[in-house]
Amino acid sequence: MATSKPMPLATTISAPFWQALEQNELHIQQCNQCDGWVFFPRKHCTHCLAHDLEFKSVNGEGTLYSYTLTRIPTMPEFSDEMPQALAVVELSQGVRINTTLIDVAESDIEIGMAVKPVFDKVSSDGKTLLRFTSAANQGGVRDYQDPLLNLERNAAGQVQVPVDNLSALYALADNTFTPWSNEYVVDQALINDFADLSGDDYWLHTDVEKAKTDSPFKTTIAHGSLVQVLQSRLTIALPFEIVGFQTMVNYGSNRLRFPAPVPAGSTIHGRSKVKDISVSHKGIQLTLEMNIHVLGNDKPSVINDLVILYR
Ligand SMILES: [Zn+2]
Repeated sequence: MATSKPMPLATTISAPFWQALEQNELHIQQCNQCDGWVFFPRKHCTHCLAHDLEFKSVNGEGTLYSYTLTRIPTMPEFSDEMPQALAVVELSQGVRINTTLIDVAESDIEIGMAVKPVFDKVSSDGKTLLRFTSAANQGGVRDYQDPLLNLERNAAGQVQVPVDNLSALYALADNTFTPWSNEYVVDQALINDFADLSGDDYWLHTDVEKAKTDSPFKTTIAHGSLVQVLQSRLTIALPFEIVGFQTMVNYGSNRLRFPAPVPAGSTIHGRSKVKDISVSHKGIQLTLEMNIHVLGNDKPSVINDLVILYR
C-alpha cells in the first residue's frame, strides 16, 4: 500500500540518505578534508568547499532547535496529521534537519529538549521518513500502519471506507488494478444498433463488405463511445465501498482515450483502479481509471478516468 502524500524524490546526491533511512539508519555527510559535518546532502563541503564528502552513520541524537504547530493542513493530504509539529532539530554533529516531531504532547514541547530519531515507515514498500521524538520516548522504527486494516467489511467482502476517513481514502489510491471483469462480445448487430441510436453510421462501423477491403483493420470496428458505455456490462469487483456520504455524483471524466480498436466480434473485458483521491470545497473526489481491453490485447481500447464526487 503506497501513500498518496507527496513524497521526497531522491537525487543522485541524496539517494544514500534515503536508502539509509529505509535501513533504519541516519547517514549524513562528513568532509574528508576538514572533518566538518554537512546537511542536507550535497556535492561540496559547506565549510571548506572540498568535493570530498562521505556519508557516515550517526545515532541521530540531538536537541530541538525550533518548531511550529500547524493547525491548518499545508496540503489537504496532511489533514489526518493535524496538528503537525514542524521542527528543526540540531544533531550533536551541529547540523540542523527540518523534520516532524511526533508523539510529544503540545505542552511538553520545549526548545532545547533532547530528541531522538524515529524511522517512520510511511508505505508498505518500505519508504521511510525521518521524524524525531522526545529522548524519553522509545524512538526507533515506527511500523507501517495500513489504514484499511481495521475497517469493517460488508457481506461482499468489500472494506467499508467512511468518506471522512482521509488516510483510508488515500490508501485506496494504491495503483493496483482490480481483477478482470466478466467478458462481453461486441458483435456486428450491437454495433449496428448503436449506429442507429447515435446516428453515427460511418462505413468503418457498419459496412462489412467495404471494410474487408478498405479498412486498415480488414473488418468493421466498434464505435469508441459504444465500447465506453459497455463498461456498464462489465462487472468490476472493487475491493472497497465508500460509506457515510450524503450524495454521490458522477462528475464526468478527466480523460477519455480509445488507444486500440475493437474489431466486430471481439470479446472485451475491463478492470479499474483508484487513480487519485483529492479533497476540495466540492467534497471528496475519487478518480477511478477504467480500462477496457479486447481479450488478449495488452493495449486498452478504452481508458476512462471517471470522477466521482462524494459530499
Ligand atoms: Zn570540508
